[in-house]
Amino acid sequence: MMSAAIPITQRLAGKVALITGGASGIGECTARLFVKHGAKVIVADVQDQLGRSLCQEIGSEETIFYVHCDVTCDADIQNAVDTAISKYGKLDIMFSNAGISGEMESRIILSDNTNFKRVFDVNAYGAFLAGKHAARVMIPAKTGCIIFTASVVSVVAEGAIPYAYVASKHAVVGLANNLCVELGQYGIRVNCISPFGVATPMLRQGAGMIEKSKVEDLVSSSANLKGIVLEAEDVAKAALYLGSDDSKYVSGMNLVVDGGYSITNPSFGSVFKTLLS
Ligand code: NAD
Repeated sequence: MMSAAIPITQRLAGKVALITGGASGIGECTARLFVKHGAKVIVADVQDQLGRSLCQEIGSEETIFYVHCDVTCDADIQNAVDTAISKYGKLDIMFSNAGISGEMESRIILSDNTNFKRVFDVNAYGAFLAGKHAARVMIPAKTGCIIFTASVVSVVAEGAIPYAYVASKHAVVGLANNLCVELGQYGIRVNCISPFGVATPMLRQGAGMIEKSKVEDLVSSSANLKGIVLEAEDVAKAALYLGSDDSKYVSGMNLVVDGGYSITNPSFGSVFKTLLS
């Protein structure tokens, strides 16, 4: 039953969220949207200046607070989670979103081993630590919601995407599934969001820092859904759904936000058309 006291525009009223990688791109957009929907937010990132100025722009410390947090460091994640508790009293939503693409190398024999380990460290180990420390405070509370940003590459193979990135995002989905099964008994929901390409700084850097509109054109040219561009806000809205009580019985899902890209196989269609012509 919908509460009469909570306006429909405040879907996270009374909730506390922690967003890793919250200073830029999808995380930044989610921080803005979560606050708009009544949440108190801890932004955790390594880009301190950007994170701090974002928080100052969005609201006062009563509402949003920046914490330096390298997700590969156990003590940093522990501190970020503890800050949510000491500042806002609890942690309802862990949005484990920090990630890096690593080097844009896609040929296995040329792939750099150090890069592979670094990408895994941030994307998979960082997600593991986020899940672990969120569980630490959510289990006694017997409630909570953990959301991971995976990627469309967790469900579709693309030879051009770097090995470390693809493997790490599969790892994130596996981790989420395991957590979903273990933490269900405590009323904790665990889900992933897997976006298609979004022209954030990460993707723009990977594409040689070309203009946002050019990245969007490139992404759109290979998209299934035409005439519309996937934006960070669309991914933030998926996080809003998974973080809110609108999804109160949704757990163990990998919400693929790709406009149907991952279920297509254009080459099959063109072969079929050739056969019919
Ligand atoms: P982004 O570069 O704009 O944001 C990523 C944020 O993570 C940055 O603020 C960065 O400082 C932070 N970060 C990186 N390493 C960190 C660390 N060790 N500790 C803490 N923070 C760290 O990129 P984005 O596109 O918004 O990426 C967000 C997530 O979305 C990532 O997990 C990425 O893999 C995923 N994703 C992005 C796309 C896309 O096309 N942009 C598609 C699918 C998935």
